[in-house]
Amino acid sequence: MLLFRVALTGAFLSSFLVAQGDLKVTPGFDLSAIDKSVNPCDNFYQYACGSWLKNNPIPPDQSSWGRFSELAERNRTILRQILEQAATTAAGGAAKVDADTQKIGDYYASCMDQKSIDAKGLAPLQAELDRIKGMKTTLDLTEETARLHRMGVDVLFNFSSGQDFKDSNAVIGQADQGGLGLPEKDYYFRDDPKAVETRKEYVAHLARMLVLTGVPAASAQKQAADVMALETALAKASLDVTTRRDPTAVYHKMKLTDFEGLEDSFNWSRYFTLIQTPKLDSLNVASPAFYKGEEPLLKSEPLAVFQTYFTLHLLQTLALNLPSKFDAENFAFYGKFLTGAKEQRARWKRCVASTDGDLGEALGKAYVTKTFGADGKQRTLDMVHNIEASMGQDLQQLSWMTPATKQKAMEKLHAITNKIGYPDKWRDYSALKIVRGDAMGNTLRSNEFEFHRQIEKIGKPVDRLEWGMTPPTVNAYYDPQMNNINFPAGILQPPFFSKESDDATNYGAIGAVIGHELTHGFDDQGRQFDPKGNLQDWWTAADAKAFDSRTECLVKEYASFTLPGGVHMNGKLTLGENTADNGGLRLAWMALMKDLAGKTLPAKDGYTEQQRFFLGWGQVWCDNITPEMQRMQAQTDPHAIPEYRVNAVVSNMPEFQTAFSCKAGQPMVRGANSCPVW
Ligand SMILES: [Zn+2]
Repeated sequence: MLLFRVALTGAFLSSFLVAQGDLKVTPGFDLSAIDKSVNPCDNFYQYACGSWLKNNPIPPDQSSWGRFSELAERNRTILRQILEQAATTAAGGAAKVDADTQKIGDYYASCMDQKSIDAKGLAPLQAELDRIKGMKTTLDLTEETARLHRMGVDVLFNFSSGQDFKDSNAVIGQADQGGLGLPEKDYYFRDDPKAVETRKEYVAHLARMLVLTGVPAASAQKQAADVMALETALAKASLDVTTRRDPTAVYHKMKLTDFEGLEDSFNWSRYFTLIQTPKLDSLNVASPAFYKGEEPLLKSEPLAVFQTYFTLHLLQTLALNLPSKFDAENFAFYGKFLTGAKEQRARWKRCVASTDGDLGEALGKAYVTKTFGADGKQRTLDMVHNIEASMGQDLQQLSWMTPATKQKAMEKLHAITNKIGYPDKWRDYSALKIVRGDAMGNTLRSNEFEFHRQIEKIGKPVDRLEWGMTPPTVNAYYDPQMNNINFPAGILQPPFFSKESDDATNYGAIGAVIGHELTHGFDDQGRQFDPKGNLQDWWTAADAKAFDSRTECLVKEYASFTLPGGVHMNGKLTLGENTADNGGLRLAWMALMKDLAGKTLPAKDGYTEQQRFFLGWGQVWCDNITPEMQRMQAQTDPHAIPEYRVNAVVSNMPEFQTAFSCKAGQPMVRGANSCPVW
C-alpha cells in the first residue's frame, strides 16, 4: 500500500523486540545512564547514554537494543499475559467467552504449537505449492498472482486502495511496484563489496530454501540464480526509497484502460475479478514505468522461473508457520546476515507480534483496558495543545516566511486533528475465521481478511477514525492525507511520558515526539499537502525557495555522518525526519519555557530544568545497534541513526549550548553552520 504516514521510528526498532522477564519500568530521567567522563559539549549522546550503552549490550536475539526496546519489551510481556490467559479461556470453550478473546486465544495457542507445525511439514501449504507447480499458461500466471496477493504474498507488483492524493475524501485503487525479496531497489545494484556479498548470500539462501522443498542441490542453484535475475529486472524498473518520498513522483492517476495497456500480457480484467475490486474506472498508478518495465519480462521469462519465484515468496511470507528448518533458514538470511541478530527470537515473542499484526485491535482492546486510563488521554491532549500553541507562535515569528504563506500554514496547523491512545471504534473481526490448531490457515485467512478489507474501501468514503498502528505499538505517526497526528497508548509511558517525571523531562521526551509529528505536516513531503490533505501547493515561490535552502543545510549536515563500514547517511532520504527532530525539540523547548515563565527552579539531581530537558531527549534514544542493522537502516530507513538524532539536533540549538555552557569550536556547537528550519 502506498502511504505517506510518517512514523517516529522505522519499523525495525519497534518490531524487533526483546528479552528479559519482569515488567521493568524505564525511567524518563536516568542518572545511571549518564557517562560523566564525557564532556556533554563534545558528544552529548555519549554523555547522556554512555553508561547505559555499556551496561545494556544487544541481546543475542536482537539487532538493536535501546530504550524503545525496553518499553516495547514491557508491552510485549503484558500482551503475552493477556494472550496466555485468553488461550486458556478460549480452550475451555465456555459459552461466555467473547468473540475477540476466543480469536486471540486460539490464534496465539496455534502459533505457539511448534510441535504440531513441525509434525505437519509442508502439508498445510501443499495445495498452494501444487497450484504453482501446475501453472501452464500466461492466464495461469494472472490467476496465481491474484491468489498470492490475496494471501498477502508480495509478487510482481502491489495492488491495494488508498486516499486519492488530490481528493482526500475519495478512496481509489492504487497500483504500485512490488515483488522484491531484498529490502530495496538499490540492494540489487550497489557495487561495494558488502553489497556484492549480500546478493551472493541471498542467492545461496534462495537455493537452500529450494533444497528444503526437495529440489536437488544442483538445480536449486540455477533456479535461485534465475529468480535473482527476475527480481533484478523488477528492481531495475522500480523507484528507489528516496525518490518515493516525493508524492508527485508516485501519483499518476490513469484511466483503467490506459493502465491495462502498460502491461498487455497480464489479464487485468481477470485479475480484478479474482481480487474482487469494486468497479474501477480510474486508479493511481504509482509508477507507470514499473509496469512498462515488467511487460517484456512476462513475455520473455519461462513460466518455470515464475513458478520458482512464487514458491520462494510464498515460503518466505509464511515462514513462521512452516517447520523449524524453513523458519531457521529464513532467519539465517533476513535476521542474521541482514540485521546481525545472533539468535532467532523466542517463539512467544514472534507469536505475540504475529497476533498483534493479524488481530491487532482485538488484542489492543484488552491491552488498553489493562494499561491505559482515561487520565492518560487527557494529560497527553493537554501537552499536544501546548505544543500546537508553540508551533503557532513559531510560525508567526519566522523571519523567512511571508505573511501570505504564514496565514496558510496557520490554517493547516489548526486543521490538524489528534488521535490519542486507541481507536474510538474498534475493528470488527467477525468475518475472520480463526481455528485452533491451524496456524497456517489462521495466517492465510488473516492476510486475506486484511487484503479484502483494503480492496473493499475503493469507492467508499474515507474512514477518518481508522488507525494505522495498533495500540501497544511504541511509535507515533503523522498522516499528511488525513492531516492528523496519532499516538498509540504503547508510547505514552515512561521513558516518554510519566506523571512522576518533572515537566522538563516529559517535554524533552514525549513533548519533542509530539512536536516531531506536528512539524511533519510542514516538512519537504508534508508541506505539499493542504489542510484537507490534498496534494496542492499552498506556498509562494519565494517561501518554497527559502524553505528548500534551509533544508538543504540539513541534507548536507546529515550526509556528512559516516557509519561503521563506511556507509554514509542519506541526507535526502532522512530529510523529513531530521526536519521533524530539529523542529520537534525546538517546539517542545518553547512550550517548556512558556510553562516555566521565566522562573528558575532549583537544580534537581545536579541538573537544571534546561539540562533535564535535553537529557530527556537524549536518553530516549540510547540504543546499541549491530553494524549490519546500522547499514540496513542507513540504506532503507528515512530515520537517522539514534546517535545523530541526538547530536545533530542539539548541536543546531544555541539553547543547548547555553544550558551546558558549551564554547565555540566544541563539536556540539555548530554556531553559524546551524540549520534552523522551525
Ligand atoms: Zn517522523
